[in-house]
Amino acid sequence: MRKETYLIRSQTERSKHKEHSVPLYMTSSYTFDDADHMAALFNDEEEGYIYSRYSNPNITEFVDKVARLEGTETGWATGSGMAAIFSTFGAFLSSGDEILSSRSVFGSTHKLFTEIFPKWGIKTNYVAFDDIDNWEQAVTPSTKILYLETPTNPGVDIIDLEKAGKIAKTHNLLFVVDNCFATPINQRPAEFGADLIIHSATKYFDGQGRTMGGIILGSEEHIKTIQGFARHTGPALSPFNAWTLSKSLETLPIRIERHNLNALEIAEKLEKHPKVNWVKYPFLPSHPQFEIAKKQMDGGGGLVTFEIKGGLQEGKRFLNSLKMLSLTANLGDSRSIATHPASTTHSKLTEADREKVGISAGLIRISVGLEHVDDIWEDMEQALG
Ligand SMILES: *Cc1c(COP(=O)(O)O)cnc(C)c1O
Repeated sequence: MRKETYLIRSQTERSKHKEHSVPLYMTSSYTFDDADHMAALFNDEEEGYIYSRYSNPNITEFVDKVARLEGTETGWATGSGMAAIFSTFGAFLSSGDEILSSRSVFGSTHKLFTEIFPKWGIKTNYVAFDDIDNWEQAVTPSTKILYLETPTNPGVDIIDLEKAGKIAKTHNLLFVVDNCFATPINQRPAEFGADLIIHSATKYFDGQGRTMGGIILGSEEHIKTIQGFARHTGPALSPFNAWTLSKSLETLPIRIERHNLNALEIAEKLEKHPKVNWVKYPFLPSHPQFEIAKKQMDGGGGLVTFEIKGGLQEGKRFLNSLKMLSLTANLGDSRSIATHPASTTHSKLTEADREKVGISAGLIRISVGLEHVDDIWEDMEQALG
């Protein structure tokens, strides 16, 4: 089956009720035939379900579908994107190890690197997203993981996955990519040598702003290491959320196709607007890394950033003037969302620190949704006015 079909038709078993849609297995544990069966399952001699902190048929379905999309052998699902990120580092790192990471990472990932991991003697060396030719200089004998997100948040800057993959290979680093913004419909980091790919399923996989979840994709061998950590530390995905997410994945390719189209059109319109200083969208020829984006992505994704003229004041006024677009801390939703990092998510940083990660006072991030593109633009245009 092609991937679009697999996402819809991969169900192989049906219960005696012959249900058309996969049922929800809302059970915390599974029964054993006898003592020997129980022993075989606990000792990994036989496949089967034991307890929902380990796995569940709804979780298996979710993992199989995403692994198929990312082109990896398997995966491990978690209760949120942060649980996936934490489990990955927790499983592979020990005290004294170092992470080499692009500076432009999700806010909570940055907190892990700067406040939580140092307590356990794990250090992170940050490198700039646009300085990849010099990243090797930051590799030390203790570096174990090369970590990055592309496109980055909120700048939608692009990092060359092929170059990063080569650095990881040369120095024998585990190459880990947070692929949340692009989704595997637009970008498959495994094709560029990524060992582990992480997603917040809360975003595009759910796509409707309802369900939290996370997932890590990789080889059987790497996922076994994560499983060994996650089984006993408890970042499990709930069966209900796995069930919802598996159903959402049926429409992921067609949703992303439309997110790509709507976002490109909004980006093109913004580029011509007199109140806008600049627009960044991976598939706009004016994007500084347009050539790299074209090489490694099949679509530009749903996120557009632009700088409004007039800085902080005008950024706030734009948000306050929107009538339809939501002001909310999410992305990847069917509803379009606007955020102004300088006055909200990043307001506690000094202006100088914001500049370091490319967040100017007038920067607005739009998660372009699935409403009619003319309605999205009309709302943005009146708010710009
Ligand atoms: C949202 C997000 C996360 C964290 O995911 P949660 O599901 O909110 O825990 C990690 N990385 C990126 C890029 C995100 O956008």
